[in-house]
Amino acid sequence: YADNALYIAKDTGRNSFHFFNPAMDQQMHERIQLEHDLRSALENDEFLLYYQPQYDLNKNIVTGAEALIRWQHPTRGLLLPGQFITIAEDTGLICQMGEWVLRTACSQARFWHENGYPDLLVSVNLSSRQLSLPDFTARVKAILAETGCNPARIEMEITESSVMAQPETAIAQLAALQELGLNLAMDDFGTGYSSLGYLKRFPLNRLKIDRGFISGIPDDGNDVVITQTIILMARQLGLSVVAEGVETEAQKTFLLENDCANVQGFLMGRPEVVETFNQHLQAAFGN
Ligand code: C2E
Ligand code: MG
Ligand code: MG
Ligand code: MG
Repeated sequence: YADNALYIAKDTGRNSFHFFNPAMDQQMHERIQLEHDLRSALENDEFLLYYQPQYDLNKNIVTGAEALIRWQHPTRGLLLPGQFITIAEDTGLICQMGEWVLRTACSQARFWHENGYPDLLVSVNLSSRQLSLPDFTARVKAILAETGCNPARIEMEITESSVMAQPETAIAQLAALQELGLNLAMDDFGTGYSSLGYLKRFPLNRLKIDRGFISGIPDDGNDVVITQTIILMARQLGLSVVAEGVETEAQKTFLLENDCANVQGFLMGRPEVVETFNQHLQAAFGN
């Protein structure tokens, strides 16, 4: 009974009552606290960029890396995006955070290029809030110039929901980014609600098959057919395709047999800090 008890807080001087239970109260305090901490996280240099390898199974090489943000919180430890991205989006902090991510990824791409590493395609995730900044393309251009990064080395990942809110505006924005020489990918493909009519109009280079479909392979007949269909459709539309969330040998074999040699997932490698990622790259390439 105590857990479900409603606490009634009376605002003195006002005729209003707030009903809440201890769990809600706790959640709200956590969120307010995190929001507060997030505001200083950038200045305090608390963000980290992890990198997860992408492989070409035909050539047996690492072809790229997805940059994934982490927050080294001063008291809560290492936080995953699921624990703070929504707050960052709601507060608008995502735009500054996203610029930090892009700047860091561009510097890293340039470092790899200049230090004898293979030229990797570095993927960064974009929030719809960034995409809707009117001067977003100009900001990206400035970051490319500042870091001396070749735009061909960068891929921007967008989701269906972030472009479908205002598809016509998104098409123009994406075209401008492609004009800069950047690569564009549709992330988590198949989980959103983009119509096929728009898919053909979005200026894209590749589709990332959502790991929700990959996880059912090879046992779930629906996931098998959906994955095969996405691979075929991508080919027909002239797009590359990459499968995310590959965790088992059976999934890897299936993807190879179905002409999807580009893969990313725990089976090949987890997201890691750049030092560890580089050690693995050096081991793989002997440089
Ligand atoms: P995403 O872009 O779809 O990234 C892939 C997520 O799947 C990552 O989670 C990655 O660690 C995880 N993953 C990769 N391979 C496997 C696998 O084999 N099995 C399983 N179970 N998971 C796998 P993470 O790093 O927690 O990121 C979650 C989401 O947060 C990302 O999904 C992306 O939407 C968002 N995110 C991450 N970094 C950024 C960023 O810098 N900016 C923005 N706006 N969003 C980001
Ligand atoms: Mg992604
Ligand atoms: Mg994804
Ligand atoms: Mg996702």
